Amino acid sequence: MRPDMLKAGSTIGIIGGGQLGRMLAMAAARLSFRTIILEPQADCPAAQTANRQIVAAYDDKAALAELVEACDVITYEFENVSIEAVQELAEKIGVYPPPAALEISQDRFTEKQFLNESGIATAPWRLVDDADMLASALAALGGQGILKTRRFGYDGKGQVRLTPENSSGADKINAALKDIGHAPAILEGLMGFEREISVIAARGRNGEVALFDIAENVHKNGILDTSTVPANISAETAAAAQLAAEKLLHALDYVGVLGLEFFVMPDGTLITNEFAPRVHNSGHWTEAANPVSQFDQHIRAVAGLPLGDTTRHSDCRMVNLIGDDVLQVEAILAEPHAMLHLYGKAEARAGRKMGHVTYISPKKG
Ligand code: AMP
Repeated sequence: MRPDMLKAGSTIGIIGGGQLGRMLAMAAARLSFRTIILEPQADCPAAQTANRQIVAAYDDKAALAELVEACDVITYEFENVSIEAVQELAEKIGVYPPPAALEISQDRFTEKQFLNESGIATAPWRLVDDADMLASALAALGGQGILKTRRFGYDGKGQVRLTPENSSGADKINAALKDIGHAPAILEGLMGFEREISVIAARGRNGEVALFDIAENVHKNGILDTSTVPANISAETAAAAQLAAEKLLHALDYVGVLGLEFFVMPDGTLITNEFAPRVHNSGHWTEAANPVSQFDQHIRAVAGLPLGDTTRHSDCRMVNLIGDDVLQVEAILAEPHAMLHLYGKAEARAGRKMGHVTYISPKKG
């Protein structure tokens, strides 16, 4: 047994109580680990499948101390946890992925800078703190772009698409800044991509790397709608995406699963959009099409276990159930080759991820 390998029965703390935490807790249970969720919302999706929940804010000092006391290792399932809290935890207990990866990914400015410094291409971008900076950023990026808040954006929130029509003149510039609440932002060049893809990548505590196949993703209203494997891309593009993911994992001295998203340009070249230091919605297909899912893989990595085989046995299409989509459950239950996964959320609000379905078929690609 590796010296740093967690023994069966050990406890993994998970900060964040959403569906990703729920699926991580299920994967942990399969390997005989116990889980404790730290999440302010009682009876959250993750707590329903975990051993215990500490109901408290993510930066509650007493709750964090309790978590350290009760756990053998700690991970997190979303990016917007308090970096200070996670850094403090890391002084007392193993925290994976490393807090530095979380800190970099929490701010689109530091994220883009890190990617560029690691030799990974992104869309051209400019910092935007005020109207003057936005005007010059627009001038530099061809009069159009996507204005994105540096922090706390997800699923297309905190973003405004700017074109010459809606951004020429002081009034329109100010209106765009108002739309993002005058938060510190970046302007990104508008990419005329052909498709979007992602890589789900893992690195173990000993530096070993395992990469899942590449998924092709379709977004609707800024939210992931479907992920399909295999992606309709050339072998060269696939290899380039995997190489970028491997480079990033090593540059971050990463431990755990990471999701890296790309735009594929018409000539097959890749532009990296962003990375998430956690399991990722575009990797849910691994649960149905691989013997070891992204959730199993993350638990293995944080527990110091050997990473699992990422060879895919099936082709797969994952469809997110957003808001009222969940009303179709009865029909989905009757569909052939469909695996339904619901997240235990009581209320189906618009834009809320309620579950997903994976459809597998014999592997062709
Ligand atoms: P994000 O929140 O950055 O992942 O953006 C959400 C979605 O907006 C992406 O998946 C793309 O479909 C689109 N998008 C984001 N950035 C750009 C860009 N620079 N150019 C074109 N489309 C973009």
